[in-house]
Amino acid sequence: HPPMAAGSAPGAGVGPGRRIGVFGGTFDPPHVGHLVPALFVAEALALDVVLLVVANVPWQKVGSRPISPARDRLDMVRAAVDGVDVLEASDLEIRRGGDTFTVDTIAELRSQGPDDDLVLILGSDAASGLDTWERPDELRRTCRLAVVERPGEPVSVPDGFRHVTVPVPQLDVSSTALRDRAAAGLSLRYLVPDGAVAILERRRLYR
Ligand code: ATP
Ligand code: MG
Repeated sequence: HPPMAAGSAPGAGVGPGRRIGVFGGTFDPPHVGHLVPALFVAEALALDVVLLVVANVPWQKVGSRPISPARDRLDMVRAAVDGVDVLEASDLEIRRGGDTFTVDTIAELRSQGPDDDLVLILGSDAASGLDTWERPDELRRTCRLAVVERPGEPVSVPDGFRHVTVPVPQLDVSSTALRDRAAAGLSLRYLVPDGAVAILERRRLYR
C-alpha cells in the first residue's frame, strides 16, 4: 500500500484508496480492550489507519446509564492514541450530531473516499447484535467486518455480513467495570493509558 502523498487530507478521495479500519464505541473510558484489538486488526489486515470513532449519542445505551459528555470521551481517546501513528481518534460522529448510527458513518467515509476499503471493527458482543442496529441491510452492503472475540462472547455474526475474525489476546475488561473501579476510588492504571487516566481524574468523570 503506497503511502499517501504528503499533505493530502485523510479520506480526500484523491490517489489510491486507503484501507481504513472503523472502530466505533462509546469509549467511556477507552481501555486496553479497545486499543490492543485495534492494533492487532491493523496489523492483521494491513490497514493504513484505524479510526476510533467516538459515538455522539450511543442510543442503545441511553437510559440504562449516564454517558459522559462526548467531548470528554473524545479527549480521552485522543490522549490514548497519542504517539501511535496507525490509531486515530475521530470526531466525525460528534460533528454530525444526533443519535449515532454506524451506517451513516460508513456512508460519510465512503463519500469522502470513494476508493477506500472500509473495514468495520467490532467486538463479538457488538457483532452478534448487528441486526438491532440502524439499517442493517445497508450495512451489509457497504462495509466488511473484522470481528474480535471478547471473553465469554463467542464470535457469531448475523447472516450476510462479509467478515473475518482476527485473533486477539483475550482481555476481560470493560468500560463499565472501569467506571465502577473509578467510582470506588480504585486505580485504572495499566488498563487505561496514562494520558486518559489523567483526564478522567482531573475532570472527576466517574466519581
Ligand atoms: P461499556 O461497558 O460501557 O459497554 P465497553 O468496554 O463494552 O464499554 P464500548 O465502547 O461499548 O466498550 O465498545 C466499543 C467496541 O469495543 C465494541 O465493538 C466492543 O465489542 C469492543 N470492545 C470493548 N471491550 C472489548 C474487549 N475487552 N475486547 C474486545 N473488544 C472489546
Ligand atoms: Mg459495550
